[in-house]
Amino acid sequence: MRFDVLTLFPEIIEHYCSVSIMKRAKDSDVFSVNTVNPRDYTLDKHKKVDDTPYGGGAGMVLMAQPYVDAYDAVEKSDNSITVMLSPQGEPLSENLVLDLSKYNQIVMLCGHYEGFDERIREIIKPKEISIGDFVLTGGELPALCLIDAVSRKLEGTLGKIESAEEDSFSNGLLEYPHYTKPRDFRGFAVPEVLLNGNHKEINKFRLEQQIERTKAKRPDLYEKYLKNNQISGKD
Ligand code: SAM
Repeated sequence: MRFDVLTLFPEIIEHYCSVSIMKRAKDSDVFSVNTVNPRDYTLDKHKKVDDTPYGGGAGMVLMAQPYVDAYDAVEKSDNSITVMLSPQGEPLSENLVLDLSKYNQIVMLCGHYEGFDERIREIIKPKEISIGDFVLTGGELPALCLIDAVSRKLEGTLGKIESAEEDSFSNGLLEYPHYTKPRDFRGFAVPEVLLNGNHKEINKFRLEQQIERTKAKRPDLYEKYLKNNQISGKD
């Protein structure tokens, strides 16, 4: 997998990818991250990449020329997808992350200021993805969310691939609770069932916990889970 990120602030992307699990996976060639700065492609003599909006209004709009030229300069593989990070896009979800992990290149366009000149959308025709119904100052954090979430689906990023398979959302439910040492902390004890080594009982306990907490915290997911498993929700 190769991530190509078009951004005016490459250091945000590079820094996040140079620590912890991202760094280890990158060093092991599970994926690579390449940043491209549209400012390096602007034909404006003052290196401008944004300008005031036609029709008036607040904020600065990202100019089409530096973005489209920077995009054209990125070498695309046969199995590549282009994503524009945008609050107007499809909400990022575990299913979408899984779909994206099947490509071997994701080219990402990060906006800033008031956003993109519409011609960038018209010419590049990217898939627009949002990380939620709120507005950030730039597309770098959303791009990093996508890189992080997709890379967890790639073999070699996590120590044990099962840790991703058991995460929240992977079976339509939130994950069960975790405990580690000590067995008792301030009078709060680890559930007995986790200490007896009986894996059948442990799995049963964990599934019950998943169902209970999904029902309590995310009734929308719980309803979907019932429907997908053809179970009646009536107690
Ligand atoms: N004026 C735009 C609008 O209302 O749709 C918002 C522009 S926002 C201030 C600047 C950039 O941040 C966007 O172009 C996009 O790349 C990124 N961004 C902000 N919120 C986002 C979100 N929820 N999901 C994905 N990208 C986001």
